[in-house]
Amino acid sequence: MNKKIRLIYILWNSYNGSSILSYLIGSSPKVNFIWETKHFNRIQREKETECTCGKNQFDCEYRKPLYEKNYKNIWRPGIYFKLIIFFQILIWINFSKNKKKKSDLTKLFQNTQKIYNNYDGYILDSSKSAWRLSQLVQQQDLDIKVVYIQRDFKNNVASFVGHGINFFKSIMIYKSNHFTIDRFLKTSHIEHLKIEYKDFCENTSKTAEDLWKYLDLDYKNYLDMLKTKEFHVLTGNSGTRSQLIKGFENIKYDDKWKKVLKNRQQKIVKILD
Ligand SMILES: [Zn+2]
Repeated sequence: MNKKIRLIYILWNSYNGSSILSYLIGSSPKVNFIWETKHFNRIQREKETECTCGKNQFDCEYRKPLYEKNYKNIWRPGIYFKLIIFFQILIWINFSKNKKKKSDLTKLFQNTQKIYNNYDGYILDSSKSAWRLSQLVQQQDLDIKVVYIQRDFKNNVASFVGHGINFFKSIMIYKSNHFTIDRFLKTSHIEHLKIEYKDFCENTSKTAEDLWKYLDLDYKNYLDMLKTKEFHVLTGNSGTRSQLIKGFENIKYDDKWKKVLKNRQQKIVKILD
């Protein structure tokens, strides 16, 4: 029997510290960080997208081989599919029991192992989406370790608003994701490590220690690796990345909801928290 593909999956909302967490995990030499597979079908149509190494994504030596096989049709759920999954979560369907035949995603991960000759380490997918994870857990060739990073309600909403998302939509995203993910993790009994963003910022070395233990990685020099390793992801720019990396020993916890949200909005988040 073939060995399973070891996959690390980052779960939760956008704008919640998942990028810096992904860099931390992706700095390990045993991890191939391929960014968010949920964007693969879209991004391959975007000719101008730049990789964090500074090259165009199609000229980047690290990313180029990932695109040689055509993954333009890789699965991405539409609203109809999301509703079906949401309904399945409501009636306590255990997705991980439901093993299916190989999907394009498994083929992508198999190809990734081959490209980087990494059969013993991990592939890191920072997609964050619960919908995607519900499909991945049905793949029998994958051995998935979920890292679930959570940020408190007030600050996550403030972070969404700060990124230009409507206040009420931000509340909806947070609440529905929170409900769906918690319920999904309970029904599916998927192995996961839960990280609070605040703890991650205030006690990074302890979080890192928990992470390496959970991932069974013997890894100590991540602070040096973060400063030297070149990443090949398509979010953020090199300025942001170098800032993250320089300040990594002490990530500042951003308790900014009072600054970002208006008085009326602050009252609403306090009630709903
Ligand atoms: Zn690159």
